Amino acid sequence: MAERMLQFVRLSQQTPEKRQPTIRREDFDEIYARFDPARAAEQASRCSQCGVPFCSVHCPLQQNIPDWLKLTAEGRLEEAYEVNAATNTFPEICGRVCPQDRLCEGNCVIEKGFESVTIGAVERYINDTAWEKGWVKPPTPVRELDRSVAIIGAGPAGLAAAEKLRTQGWQVHVYDRYDRAGGLMIYGIPNFKLEKDVITRRTAQFEQGGITFHLNSEIGRDVTLEELREKHDAVLIATGVYKARDIAVPGAHLDGVVPAMSFLTASNRKGLGDDVPEFDSGALNAAGKRVVVIGGGDTAMDCLRTSIRQGAASVTCLYRRDKANMPGSMREVHNAEEEGVRFAWLSAPEAFEGDTQVTGVRVTKMHLGLPDATGRQQVEPIPGSEFTEPADLVIKALGFDPENLPKMFDEPGLAVSRWGTLTIDRRSMMTSLPGVFAAGDIVRGASLVVWAIRDGRDAADRIAEYVKARDAVPQAAE
Ligand code: SF4
Repeated sequence: MAERMLQFVRLSQQTPEKRQPTIRREDFDEIYARFDPARAAEQASRCSQCGVPFCSVHCPLQQNIPDWLKLTAEGRLEEAYEVNAATNTFPEICGRVCPQDRLCEGNCVIEKGFESVTIGAVERYINDTAWEKGWVKPPTPVRELDRSVAIIGAGPAGLAAAEKLRTQGWQVHVYDRYDRAGGLMIYGIPNFKLEKDVITRRTAQFEQGGITFHLNSEIGRDVTLEELREKHDAVLIATGVYKARDIAVPGAHLDGVVPAMSFLTASNRKGLGDDVPEFDSGALNAAGKRVVVIGGGDTAMDCLRTSIRQGAASVTCLYRRDKANMPGSMREVHNAEEEGVRFAWLSAPEAFEGDTQVTGVRVTKMHLGLPDATGRQQVEPIPGSEFTEPADLVIKALGFDPENLPKMFDEPGLAVSRWGTLTIDRRSMMTSLPGVFAAGDIVRGASLVVWAIRDGRDAADRIAEYVKARDAVPQAAE
């Protein structure tokens, strides 16, 4: 091994080629090229095969990263794929959208001084190859079980659970209020990070494997939670969190002030070939406009970079803290800067200006003060620093909160936390309703795709345990 691996002492880190900003801002295609086989093997060989691999420790899925890096370095790609897919339902998606700089790569022991192994790019290479070679198969149960589950939400948590239960032979029914499966992966994340066929080829395989999708199906409107509980052995709620956080400042009602999700959905629908009147009318289209995006997370970065590609006249990000304190991935910030986004750090909106249509954002400059009880520095306004940032389109990307599920599902017995997330028993993952489980963002709050996958996989195991235990208990005679 020693000869093939540990090559970080000899080889420098190389990421896949990135398309030039001037070219990539003209389209919605993914921005990274793929490694060629020699480069993938070379980069994988930089791994030092740690006894305690911090890359794995810091991966929500605890993937066997050193193993699939070694297999890639040895050219044993199909085995690398098998090891990778054993712990991850969507490795091809994680290879694209995980913030590796905060997870595996950010904790790689050769990060300091040598630069980490390019784990995400190798993962993407392994799995794109697996799809091309036909190694990725639909979930195929060894035998059919007389057990069924209703999964509410076709995002990463719901789909991860669906795949695992279907593979065990369960009859799996996935309900989603949208017309396509994928959740935020289909309508939230833009193509330049995750091309849509990466999602649709997966959901097509799931259908081939016998998973039934009930799309355009809203719980509480088309079917009730009670009906699902009666019809299935278990129910999993994996709706995600969709209620956009708002900002209570004067002018918030003006035309041209829009939530991030509406903007991104319109753009993604357009890319999918849908008829999108709000895009065609210009209401949700940045073309020719001075765009201001408020927020510092990955959704804000997606809005900024989408606006660039739609042909905005200018694109500015307002964030009330500084660059070092941004919640989003630094890689995405860097990509946005390269593409022409202007960042106004330490800038907080005070009001939106305009009569009916927004014309600008009144901004106050901030400075970072003393840390609060959580250790995070407080932001404080600088008196007299106000200025107006001109804007024709303002996109609010301030994060997401849970919707009121007990009300939407007409089920007051569904317990929620004070933040509105569903309360579950941490061990069983069951909600306050027997046989109803929950996973993903609706439990943990807005988080990463990779955490949703982890939660969905865990929930599948808990559901299977619950039904097995239930069936093992002799039922009392009537
Ligand atoms: Fe390899 Fe880095 Fe993981 Fe160590 S931490 S096993 S060097 S990828």
